Parts: sequence; structure tokens; C-alpha cells
Amino acid sequence: MEGSRSVRPVRIDDLPIRDELRGKSPYGAPQLDVPVQLNTNENPYPLPEPLVERIAERVREAARGLNRYPDRDAVELRTELARYLTRTGGHPLTLAHVWAANGSNEVLQQLLQTFGGPGRTAIGFEPSYSMHALISRGTGTGWISGPRHDDFTIDVAAAQQAITENAPNVVFITSPNNPTGTAVEADTVLALYEAAQAAGPALVVVDEAYVEFSHRPSLLPLLEGRPNLVVSRTMSKAFGAAGLRLGYLAADPAVVDAVQLVRLPYHLSAVTQATALAALEHTDTLLGYVDQLKKERDRLVTELRAIGCEVTDSDANFVQFGRFDDSPTAWRRILDHGVLVRDNGVPGWLRVTAGTPAENDAFLDAVRALMTDRGTDRSTERSTERSKREQSA
Ligand SMILES: *Cc1c(COP(=O)(O)O)cnc(C)c1O
Repeated sequence: MEGSRSVRPVRIDDLPIRDELRGKSPYGAPQLDVPVQLNTNENPYPLPEPLVERIAERVREAARGLNRYPDRDAVELRTELARYLTRTGGHPLTLAHVWAANGSNEVLQQLLQTFGGPGRTAIGFEPSYSMHALISRGTGTGWISGPRHDDFTIDVAAAQQAITENAPNVVFITSPNNPTGTAVEADTVLALYEAAQAAGPALVVVDEAYVEFSHRPSLLPLLEGRPNLVVSRTMSKAFGAAGLRLGYLAADPAVVDAVQLVRLPYHLSAVTQATALAALEHTDTLLGYVDQLKKERDRLVTELRAIGCEVTDSDANFVQFGRFDDSPTAWRRILDHGVLVRDNGVPGWLRVTAGTPAENDAFLDAVRALMTDRGTDRSTERSTERSKREQSA
């Protein structure tokens, strides 16, 4: 009888979706409404008022033309991005070397649609940015998880071997790496590029989302003479414009031509282009905030170490700290103090984004309380713990 059939909500797996998506979860950093949010590596400073005014002006101008499709090739924006890269990256670039999309995630998706896809594979060295694996999956590209040393630097010999054995079509190198903050040496990129060309050839993507926060220069000069190398960038972090959704890449002009094979026509709205152009007019002011954040990042490293945490050296606007026997519980205890950090699933470690000085103080107070409790809870077991750790080291 119809009416007696039990009604249950339709689940994703009831739908005729692709097999490789069954049982999977979407990207989801928890967004909780707490006073101090230091979990998604955003810039804590709102855009300065003169820039807000300039955005309003440029968007008003663009609005008059919204009956028409936007500039499909985003020529003015790509020209300005090339100018910014040339000025700051130590390597001359033009419009032809630069491509832009809705966040660097879309840039990476376009690269995987072009160079990955069904029957092809991509490799990354984990822990690293989880979206590289997720976008690979979304584009039907097989994912290979490559190794790192215990200190989170790339194990060059092991990485070369993984590339040689698997002959991936795309190689991801994140520098500075997320969630560890680790910058990658130019020599490492060159070694992996050579291995990837010998095994493949393959496209090597250097994800420089955080490079403006680094102690080291950009890897952009490596593009010279390497047509299978791509550097991806974003305005989400250093430019403090995560809400804008603007990412871009620099590469040989042939790569820029290649991604046009898969990009949707008019993918970058006229409003986005106008807003990004306004932000680029204020580059110097925005990079001033980067200097402040670098100082705060360095302060976090120093103070966390003074509290007794282990901290991974950071070249980014965040810091990986630990180690905790039970990082999910440590995450929860910090949250109890109104501070949201990120558990990236790296056992023993958590990640905190550098915020304003006041936000960082609140975070440091929360960790201090956590470490004090921990000391009291465990004063009896500590000596046993220590000898155990020394044995396993
Ligand atoms: C935040 C981040 C990005 C930025 O993605 P957008 O889509 O540009 O916001 C890219 N790569 C890494 C490693 C990141 O951490």
C-alpha cells in the first residue's frame, strides 16, 4: 500500500552520481560563530575605506555595462596582474603569461580539466592543501599521496621516486605549504620538475597562495625556459580579499592558451574584474598589512615556543603548532575560550591563522590555559610519557 511506505529523505548515494563521489564529504572548514576566528587563513583586516570607495566607483562604472557580457579575456585585469608579478616576483611577465579565474581553486580546476581528467593522475606531498586532492577527484583525476619528511619538508629522493614510479600527469608543490607553513627550496622544485619531465612529461604546479608572507622570494623566475611549470596565486590571502574570489596563474603563454579550451565563456564577471582592478590600485597599502601580519606570525611562533609548544617554521600567515596527544580535544579546549583554530587532520598538530594583535593575544591566552591544565592533569604521568617519547624518537 502506497501510504504505508516509510518516507525517508533522499540521500546523495540514492542518486545516480559518479561512483568515485559516493560516500565522500565536501570541503568544509567548520564556520562557527565565535569571537575569534583564526581557522581559514583569511586576512583579519577589512579593506581600507579609500579602497572600498574605489571599488564602489569601479563597480558603478561596470554596472552600466552589465547588459553586455564581460571582457572574456579579462585583458585589463591580466595586464595589471602581470605588472604586479613583474614588480614583486623578480621575473618579467606580460598579459600573455597570466590567466585569472574565480579564486585560485578555479584556476587549479581548469588546470586539472586540461592536464588531468579520467585515466590521468596528479600527485601532491602530504600533508598539504586538501583542495588539490578534492579538485583532482572532482575532475576525475586519480590522486597519489606523496611523502614528506617528519619535519614537513619535502623528501626530495622519495618524491622523485614517487614521480618516477607513478608518472603522474600533474605535480602539485605548495610553497609555502598549507597547513605546515613550510617553504620549498628552488632546488627542490627543479629536481621534481626534472623527474616529472623524465617520467611524463607532466605539468608542475607551484601553489604560491601565501608567498607574499614568505621570508623567501617567489619561485616565478623558475618559469624561464620551463613550459610545463605553472605558478598559481590568489588575492584571497595577502590582498585580504577572500570574498572577491580572484585567483591567477603565471606560465608559458601556451599554458594560458591551453586552459582556454576548458574555461567557461565569460567565467569572470565584470563586477569581479572591476573589483580586482580597484584592489590592485591599492597594492602598496594592502602589502603594508602583510608586513604587520608577518610580524604577528613571528610573534606567534616565538610565544608558542615559550609556552612549550612545538611549532613548525612558518613562511605563511599561519602557524602549525602542537604537539598534542589528542589534537581534536585540544582544538575543542581552545574553542571553549572563544577561539576557533583549524584541525587539518594532521595527527598531533593544529593550525592558527595570524590575526590582529588582540586576536592573537586571545589565542595565546587560550593555549597558555590549555598547556597549564595539561601540566596539572599530567604532572604524575609526565615522566613516563617523556621516557616513552624518547624511546620512540
Ligand atoms: C587558501 C589557499 C588557496 C586559495 O584559494 P582561493 O580559491 O584563491 O581562495 C590556494 N591554495 C592554497 C594552498 C591555499 O591555502
